[in-house]
Amino acid sequence: MQNIEPILPHIDSHRDDLIVLSDNVWGMPETLYAEYRSCAEHTAVLRAKGFRVTEALAGIPTAVLGEAGEGGPVIAILGEYDALPGLSQVANIAEPKELVSGGAGHGCGHNLLGSAALLAACALKDWLAETGTPGRVRYYGCPAEEGGAAKAFMVRDGCFDDVDAAISWHPGGMTQIFGAHSLANTRIDFTFTGRTSHAAASPHLGRSALDAVELMNVGVNYMREHMPSSARIHYAYLDAGGTAPNVVQGTAKVRYTVRATDLPGMLALIERVRKIAQGAALMTETTVRPQVISAVSNLLGNTPLEEAMQSVMDGLGGVEFDEADRAYAWQIQATLSADDIASSYQRAGIEPRVGEPLCDYVVPRDPRGGGIMGSTDVADVSWAVPTVQARVATVAIGTPGHTWQITAQGKAPAAHKGMTYAAQVMGATARMLFTDEVLLARARKDHRDRLERQPYVCPIPDDVKPPLQPRPAAE
Ligand SMILES: [Zn+2]
Repeated sequence: MQNIEPILPHIDSHRDDLIVLSDNVWGMPETLYAEYRSCAEHTAVLRAKGFRVTEALAGIPTAVLGEAGEGGPVIAILGEYDALPGLSQVANIAEPKELVSGGAGHGCGHNLLGSAALLAACALKDWLAETGTPGRVRYYGCPAEEGGAAKAFMVRDGCFDDVDAAISWHPGGMTQIFGAHSLANTRIDFTFTGRTSHAAASPHLGRSALDAVELMNVGVNYMREHMPSSARIHYAYLDAGGTAPNVVQGTAKVRYTVRATDLPGMLALIERVRKIAQGAALMTETTVRPQVISAVSNLLGNTPLEEAMQSVMDGLGGVEFDEADRAYAWQIQATLSADDIASSYQRAGIEPRVGEPLCDYVVPRDPRGGGIMGSTDVADVSWAVPTVQARVATVAIGTPGHTWQITAQGKAPAAHKGMTYAAQVMGATARMLFTDEVLLARARKDHRDRLERQPYVCPIPDDVKPPLQPRPAAE
């Protein structure tokens, strides 16, 4: 416990303020580069706690940086605060019930993610000052994790160039090291342009953009048999060309998400999807314009940092939940299928346990499970600097990501316990990096070795800018 104890009193002294922040952000769910109020809440706490604040980091108005300390290594703690569309939900109940009709909700727990990261940064700031240790702690308030790839844009802009290591976490059903299993991911829109015409009187004069999208989708669906089974391709219609069947659709737009286990694999797959789009355009005598919207890399692991964080988690033990926490988690589990619950254990790489609503232990490091995860923009930071993340139990085991159940549990007492634990883990791991030069050197070497095997290529084309949203008019 020697690496953990010095940081715990400082976590305690800021905990209540940061729980308030988390609950406030839960109550103002904002999505994809529109996180103006949530970012302002984080900025206000950074100022109140005495950090040096840089607003509009990387030219993104909803990104913020707070720094404290002098000299020494620079340790970044990464936070997020964006919500998801359509997941508005009343808190602390176990049935789907919208809080705001059609509203957004914190269905990925990022209210907790940002607040715990800032809690860790506050504790580290105090500890650095109290002990006179040379070093700087930075809180990076990162928007638009969900589909906006803000961190990839921030990496491209050089925001992490002088950082020595980065630490983050994600809320979930289990407590364990966040293995390097995320997928590289690109969002790319294909806009087809044809020629409108009366669909009955002069169909031969029309060239249907909707036909082109449909043929493209058929082509991609045939390709699935001949791509790596670990890759993922999804699509959604953004514009089907209108609602009138008697008009030949002159324009249509489809969004593709292409995911693969690594960057070269993803880039190769995107080329094949582009060729299929061109083929569909050729078949229908339309034209197609591809436009990359955002992209992230796959996560790069860091063995010394993962071992260090695991030792902290083992020292702390799991999150301590009480009977009331378990009672609510039981109610949530009653809304899940047996498969939901089983897959949570499978992803964690451990045998399923019966009658266990909450994870109150630490899953051993590097179990063979881990399976395929989604994608995260933390991945691009992990190519820029040695990076480590924890997963910490804040919800009932089996709760799937991006669901009303996550929003419902987002400000429950169990969530507050998980977020406090996450701050302890991040704070103690960062403290090790400030005091153990050998550990930091090993982390750097591990990172260098991985980059030598496969250099980083920014997955976002140079001309693509983040899809920023305007600041809403004052209320
Ligand atoms: Zn998330």
